[in-house]
Amino acid sequence: MGYRGNNGDVVVTDMIDAGDKAFHCRYRFIPDQDYQLGEIARTYLESDGLVTYLGDWHTHPNGSTELSLLDRRTLTKIATTDESKNKEPIMVVFGGSIGEFDVNPVQLVSGQLRFWPFSTCNFIPLSLEIYVPDN
Ligand SMILES: [Zn+2]
Repeated sequence: MGYRGNNGDVVVTDMIDAGDKAFHCRYRFIPDQDYQLGEIARTYLESDGLVTYLGDWHTHPNGSTELSLLDRRTLTKIATTDESKNKEPIMVVFGGSIGEFDVNPVQLVSGQLRFWPFSTCNFIPLSLEIYVPDN
């Protein structure tokens, strides 16, 4: 969740977790969609509509940060789903092990769903800067 700056920067302000009813296993993860949709709506309303849905993030435990075929399909599906209101979604993949995670943030440029599990998914890497608010 976040916003796009006037200069085109994507600013992530909030990250929503998988939810208590998410299904986690070694190579697959199914989020608690009801929980996530509720959190998206709550965050949007609490920001008076400034903070919107930007895309997906997840980890590849003990894996690389490269997008899998399923990741590419998911990113394309976000862009082609009207409800997401997001034609250029981002995806952030954390790969590695605890204390040694690498981060791969990308943004979809164009995409089209093909027969399962394939898709045409063209994305660009995003550079990452982390800002820590002064509190
Ligand atoms: Zn993945």
